[in-house]
Amino acid sequence: MTLNLFSTMSDNYRSNSQKIRVLTENWVNEHIYCPSCGCAVNEYENNRPVADFYCKNCNEDYELKSKNSKMLGKTISDGAYNSMIDRITSETNPNFFFLNYDKSSYDIVNFLAVPSYLFVPNMIIPRKKGIPNRPNYIMCNIDISNIPSSGKVFYIKDKQVQSKTKILDEWNKISFLKESSSIQSKGWLLDIIKCIEKLEKVNFSLNDMYQFEKYLKIRHPENNNIQAKIRQQLQILRDKNYLKFESRGKYILRK
Ligand SMILES: [Zn+2]
Repeated sequence: MTLNLFSTMSDNYRSNSQKIRVLTENWVNEHIYCPSCGCAVNEYENNRPVADFYCKNCNEDYELKSKNSKMLGKTISDGAYNSMIDRITSETNPNFFFLNYDKSSYDIVNFLAVPSYLFVPNMIIPRKKGIPNRPNYIMCNIDISNIPSSGKVFYIKDKQVQSKTKILDEWNKISFLKESSSIQSKGWLLDIIKCIEKLEKVNFSLNDMYQFEKYLKIRHPENNNIQAKIRQQLQILRDKNYLKFESRGKYILRK
């Protein structure tokens, strides 16, 4: 696999952003496979509103967002705020491919896929500044820092290409979240997974999780019994095989 975007370069682009768009799309077309089944992804016709790529085998859609920075960072800028919210809350919301590249060498530093069902509205942050001549047109950033690490499936991490087996395993491991009924219940599960990841332990206790009570209260101010909610979410994660109950108030993460 070549990480250099110019490997797919042709000429005559109207603008720099258009050039980058073509380069990154060509690169994905050539090198990236569907993380769900491993088949090649195909490019949609230009300007199709649904997504940029699709898998013929499993019908998953993928939208590509790229960033010209050596660091992936916490946020990735996107288009109009309202249309992004409409899309992620719709039935046909796409999965995302994110990439960042080094501006001077045009080498890709990170490339990752994030499943559609991990996006909840509070990850879409409105940008205050409108665009010139259209001040009411509110753009947005996607806050990827709130996506649990287990939902960020890296193909390339700090310029290191990851194995296909690992990518497919990671993608399918978290797919139980797809079945979560509402955006609100999904939001809770994602936050709890994020808290478990922050502990950086395989074995943890209920008391470890109660440390996050204040943080969770800020994210879910409507809830008046955070501790009960934590226990309930841990039960759901046990039923989904994400973790095991070892003994009263003790948990083990499954590999
Ligand atoms: Zn597929």
